[in-house]
Amino acid sequence: MKIIIMGPPGAGKGTQAEFLVKEMKIPHISTGDMFRKAVKEGTSMGLEAKRYMELGQLVPDHVTVGIVKERLSEADCSESFLLDGFPRTVSQADSLEKILESIDVGLDSVINIVVNREGLMKRLTGRRVCKSCGATYHVLYNPSKDGDKCQECGAELYQRSDDTEETVTNRLDVYEQQTAALVEYYEGKGLLHHVVGDLSVMEVNKEILKVLGSV
Ligand code: ADP
Ligand code: AMP
Repeated sequence: MKIIIMGPPGAGKGTQAEFLVKEMKIPHISTGDMFRKAVKEGTSMGLEAKRYMELGQLVPDHVTVGIVKERLSEADCSESFLLDGFPRTVSQADSLEKILESIDVGLDSVINIVVNREGLMKRLTGRRVCKSCGATYHVLYNPSKDGDKCQECGAELYQRSDDTEETVTNRLDVYEQQTAALVEYYEGKGLLHHVVGDLSVMEVNKEILKVLGSV
Protein backbone atom coordinates (compact mmCIF):
# COMPACT_ATOMS: atom_id res chain seq x y z
CA MET A 1 0.00 0.00 0.00
CA LYS A 2 1.26 3.50 -0.89
CA ILE A 3 0.26 6.02 1.76
CA ILE A 4 0.94 9.64 2.72
CA ILE A 5 0.42 10.67 6.33
CA MET A 6 -0.03 14.43 6.62
CA GLY A 7 -1.06 17.07 9.13
CA PRO A 8 0.56 20.02 10.89
CA PRO A 9 3.80 19.67 12.89
CA GLY A 10 2.96 17.80 16.11
CA ALA A 11 -0.21 16.17 14.76
CA GLY A 12 1.24 12.74 15.53
CA LYS A 13 2.50 11.68 12.08
CA GLY A 14 5.75 10.18 13.33
CA THR A 15 4.07 8.49 16.30
CA GLN A 16 1.44 6.87 14.09
CA ALA A 17 4.01 6.03 11.41
CA GLU A 18 6.02 4.03 13.99
CA PHE A 19 2.97 1.81 14.59
CA LEU A 20 1.85 1.58 10.98
CA VAL A 21 5.20 0.55 9.51
CA LYS A 22 5.51 -2.19 12.17
CA GLU A 23 1.94 -3.40 11.62
CA MET A 24 2.02 -3.22 7.83
CA LYS A 25 5.75 -3.97 7.35
CA ILE A 26 6.25 -1.16 4.85
CA PRO A 27 9.13 1.33 4.41
CA HIS A 28 8.83 4.58 6.39
CA ILE A 29 10.04 7.62 4.44
CA SER A 30 10.30 10.64 6.74
CA THR A 31 12.00 13.63 5.14
CA GLY A 32 12.51 15.18 8.60
CA ASP A 33 14.35 12.04 9.77
CA MET A 34 16.43 11.99 6.57
CA PHE A 35 17.45 15.62 7.07
CA ARG A 36 18.28 15.08 10.77
CA LYS A 37 20.48 12.10 9.80
CA ALA A 38 22.28 14.21 7.17
CA VAL A 39 22.79 17.02 9.73
CA LYS A 40 24.24 14.53 12.25
CA GLU A 41 26.57 13.07 9.61
CA GLY A 42 27.65 16.58 8.55
CA THR A 43 27.06 15.99 4.81
CA SER A 44 26.84 19.01 2.49
CA MET A 45 23.09 18.43 2.10
CA GLY A 46 22.81 18.27 5.90
CA LEU A 47 24.64 21.57 6.26
CA GLU A 48 22.28 23.22 3.77
CA ALA A 49 19.15 21.71 5.37
CA LYS A 50 20.26 22.75 8.88
CA ARG A 51 20.05 26.46 8.00
CA TYR A 52 16.34 26.14 7.24
CA MET A 53 15.43 23.62 9.95
CA GLU A 54 16.87 25.82 12.71
CA LEU A 55 14.54 28.63 11.63
CA GLY A 56 11.50 26.40 11.24
CA GLN A 57 11.44 27.02 7.49
CA LEU A 58 11.11 24.51 4.69
CA VAL A 59 14.23 23.12 3.05
CA PRO A 60 14.09 24.19 -0.64
CA ASP A 61 12.02 21.93 -2.89
CA HIS A 62 14.91 20.94 -5.21
CA VAL A 63 16.81 19.43 -2.26
CA THR A 64 13.76 17.75 -0.72
CA VAL A 65 12.36 16.35 -3.95
CA GLY A 66 15.83 15.04 -4.85
CA ILE A 67 16.17 12.91 -1.69
CA VAL A 68 12.62 11.55 -1.99
CA LYS A 69 13.12 10.66 -5.65
CA GLU A 70 16.29 8.76 -4.78
CA ARG A 71 14.62 6.90 -1.90
CA LEU A 72 11.51 5.97 -3.90
CA SER A 73 13.64 4.46 -6.65
CA GLU A 74 15.00 1.84 -4.21
CA ALA A 75 13.66 -1.69 -4.62
CA ASP A 76 11.87 -1.93 -1.26
CA CYS A 77 9.52 0.95 -2.23
CA SER A 78 8.14 -0.65 -5.39
CA GLU A 79 5.13 -2.22 -3.64
CA SER A 80 4.50 -0.02 -0.63
CA PHE A 81 5.69 2.94 1.43
CA LEU A 82 4.52 5.43 4.02
CA LEU A 83 5.51 9.03 3.27
CA ASP A 84 5.65 11.17 6.44
CA GLY A 85 6.26 14.93 6.22
CA PHE A 86 6.40 14.92 2.42
CA PRO A 87 4.95 16.57 0.37
CA ARG A 88 4.77 19.90 2.20
CA THR A 89 4.09 22.22 -0.76
CA VAL A 90 1.88 21.97 -3.83
CA SER A 91 5.03 22.01 -5.95
CA GLN A 92 6.40 19.00 -4.00
CA ALA A 93 3.07 17.21 -4.50
CA ASP A 94 3.24 17.85 -8.27
CA SER A 95 6.83 16.53 -8.31
CA LEU A 96 5.76 13.45 -6.36
CA GLU A 97 3.04 12.77 -8.89
CA LYS A 98 5.62 12.88 -11.71
CA ILE A 99 8.03 10.62 -9.81
CA LEU A 100 5.28 8.06 -9.17
CA GLU A 101 4.15 8.21 -12.79
CA SER A 102 7.72 7.55 -13.93
CA ILE A 103 7.92 4.39 -11.81
CA ASP A 104 4.33 3.46 -12.70
CA VAL A 105 2.78 3.47 -9.24
CA GLY A 106 -0.20 5.34 -7.79
CA LEU A 107 -1.08 6.49 -4.28
CA ASP A 108 -3.73 4.51 -2.38
CA SER A 109 -4.57 6.93 0.42
CA VAL A 110 -3.66 10.24 2.08
CA ILE A 111 -4.38 10.38 5.82
CA ASN A 112 -4.78 13.88 7.26
CA ILE A 113 -4.48 14.06 11.07
CA VAL A 114 -6.41 17.05 12.41
CA VAL A 115 -5.40 18.73 15.72
CA ASN A 116 -6.07 22.31 16.88
CA ARG A 117 -3.15 24.78 17.00
CA GLU A 118 -3.06 25.19 20.79
CA GLY A 119 -2.80 21.43 21.19
CA LEU A 120 0.08 21.35 18.71
CA MET A 121 2.23 23.83 20.67
CA LYS A 122 1.87 21.73 23.85
CA ARG A 123 2.68 18.54 21.99
CA LEU A 124 5.80 19.92 20.30
CA THR A 125 7.35 21.71 23.27
CA GLY A 126 6.89 18.54 25.39
CA ARG A 127 8.19 16.11 22.74
CA ARG A 128 11.22 13.96 23.55
CA VAL A 129 12.97 11.69 21.04
CA CYS A 130 15.30 8.73 21.51
CA LYS A 131 18.87 9.54 20.41
CA SER A 132 19.41 6.01 19.18
CA CYS A 133 16.20 4.48 17.73
CA GLY A 134 14.18 7.67 17.15
CA ALA A 135 11.14 6.57 19.23
CA THR A 136 8.94 9.55 20.11
CA TYR A 137 7.61 10.39 23.59
CA HIS A 138 5.90 13.27 25.36
CA VAL A 139 6.73 14.39 28.89
CA LEU A 140 3.02 14.40 29.88
CA TYR A 141 0.97 12.63 27.20
CA ASN A 142 3.22 9.71 26.31
CA PRO A 143 6.11 9.47 28.81
CA SER A 144 8.75 6.75 28.60
CA LYS A 145 8.25 4.11 31.29
CA ASP A 146 12.00 4.50 31.93
CA GLY A 147 11.99 8.25 32.68
CA ASP A 148 14.64 10.04 30.59
CA LYS A 149 15.74 6.80 28.91
CA CYS A 150 14.01 5.14 25.93
CA GLN A 151 11.74 2.29 26.99
CA GLU A 152 12.50 0.47 23.70
CA CYS A 153 16.30 0.55 23.64
CA GLY A 154 17.48 2.26 26.84
CA ALA A 155 19.25 5.17 25.07
CA GLU A 156 18.96 8.79 26.24
CA LEU A 157 16.02 10.99 25.21
CA TYR A 158 16.60 14.53 23.86
CA GLN A 159 14.55 17.57 22.94
CA ARG A 160 14.75 18.55 19.25
CA SER A 161 16.38 21.97 18.79
CA ASP A 162 13.41 23.07 16.63
CA ASP A 163 10.88 22.22 19.39
CA THR A 164 11.30 25.58 21.18
CA GLU A 165 8.25 27.85 21.41
CA GLU A 166 9.70 30.39 18.95
CA THR A 167 10.62 27.87 16.24
CA VAL A 168 7.36 25.96 16.72
CA THR A 169 5.44 29.22 16.10
CA ASN A 170 7.32 29.64 12.80
CA ARG A 171 6.71 26.01 11.82
CA LEU A 172 2.98 26.30 12.48
CA ASP A 173 2.84 29.52 10.39
CA VAL A 174 4.77 27.81 7.58
CA TYR A 175 2.28 24.92 7.72
CA GLU A 176 -0.66 27.29 7.32
CA GLN A 177 1.01 29.32 4.54
CA GLN A 178 2.59 26.55 2.49
CA THR A 179 1.29 23.10 3.43
CA ALA A 180 -2.40 23.42 4.38
CA ALA A 181 -3.33 23.84 0.69
CA LEU A 182 -2.49 20.17 0.21
CA VAL A 183 -5.72 19.23 2.00
CA GLU A 184 -7.71 20.63 -0.92
CA TYR A 185 -5.17 19.24 -3.41
CA TYR A 186 -5.63 15.64 -2.25
CA GLU A 187 -9.36 16.11 -1.62
CA GLY A 188 -9.61 17.03 -5.30
CA LYS A 189 -7.92 13.77 -6.22
CA GLY A 190 -10.38 11.78 -4.07
CA LEU A 191 -7.55 10.37 -1.92
CA LEU A 192 -7.95 12.28 1.34
CA HIS A 193 -9.23 10.83 4.63
CA HIS A 194 -9.48 13.05 7.72
CA VAL A 195 -8.72 11.48 11.10
CA VAL A 196 -9.40 13.25 14.41
CA GLY A 197 -5.99 13.57 16.09
CA ASP A 198 -7.14 14.84 19.52
CA LEU A 199 -7.80 11.32 20.78
CA SER A 200 -5.30 9.03 22.49
CA VAL A 201 -2.41 7.60 20.45
CA MET A 202 -4.07 4.16 20.35
CA GLU A 203 -7.49 5.55 19.38
CA VAL A 204 -5.96 7.53 16.51
CA ASN A 205 -4.12 4.37 15.44
CA LYS A 206 -7.39 2.43 15.41
CA GLU A 207 -9.09 5.11 13.29
CA ILE A 208 -6.25 5.10 10.75
CA LEU A 209 -6.33 1.31 10.46
CA LYS A 210 -10.09 1.49 9.94
CA VAL A 211 -9.65 4.02 7.11
CA LEU A 212 -6.85 1.98 5.48
CA GLY A 213 -8.90 -1.18 5.78
CA SER A 214 -11.63 0.40 3.68
CA VAL A 215 -9.37 1.71 0.88
P1 ADP B 1 4.64 14.91 14.02
O1 ADP B 1 5.46 13.77 13.47
O2 ADP B 1 3.31 15.05 13.32
O3 ADP B 1 5.38 16.21 14.09
P2 ADP B 1 4.82 13.45 16.56
O4 ADP B 1 4.33 12.08 16.20
O5 ADP B 1 6.29 13.61 16.75
O6 ADP B 1 4.25 14.54 15.51
O7 ADP B 1 4.02 13.89 17.88
C1 ADP B 1 4.28 15.16 18.49
C2 ADP B 1 4.22 15.01 20.00
O8 ADP B 1 2.87 14.72 20.39
C3 ADP B 1 5.07 13.86 20.57
O9 ADP B 1 5.60 14.28 21.81
C4 ADP B 1 4.08 12.71 20.75
O10 ADP B 1 4.46 11.83 21.81
C5 ADP B 1 2.78 13.47 21.09
N1 ADP B 1 1.58 12.79 20.58
C6 ADP B 1 1.44 12.14 19.39
N2 ADP B 1 0.18 11.67 19.26
C7 ADP B 1 -0.50 12.06 20.37
C8 ADP B 1 -1.85 11.89 20.83
N3 ADP B 1 -2.77 11.23 20.09
N4 ADP B 1 -2.18 12.43 22.03
C9 ADP B 1 -1.25 13.11 22.76
N5 ADP B 1 0.02 13.30 22.40
C10 ADP B 1 0.40 12.78 21.21
P1 AMP C 1 9.65 17.14 10.67
O1 AMP C 1 10.56 16.14 11.30
O2 AMP C 1 8.72 16.54 9.66
O3 AMP C 1 8.95 18.00 11.69
O4 AMP C 1 10.59 18.13 9.83
C1 AMP C 1 11.60 18.90 10.47
C2 AMP C 1 12.12 19.98 9.53
O5 AMP C 1 12.72 19.36 8.38
C3 AMP C 1 11.05 20.92 8.95
O6 AMP C 1 10.73 22.00 9.84
C4 AMP C 1 11.75 21.41 7.67
O7 AMP C 1 12.75 22.38 7.95
C5 AMP C 1 12.46 20.13 7.19
N1 AMP C 1 11.58 19.33 6.31
C6 AMP C 1 11.06 18.09 6.56
N2 AMP C 1 10.29 17.68 5.53
C7 AMP C 1 10.32 18.68 4.61
C8 AMP C 1 9.71 18.88 3.33
N3 AMP C 1 8.90 17.95 2.79
N4 AMP C 1 9.97 20.03 2.68
C9 AMP C 1 10.78 20.96 3.20
N5 AMP C 1 11.36 20.86 4.39
C10 AMP C 1 11.15 19.73 5.11
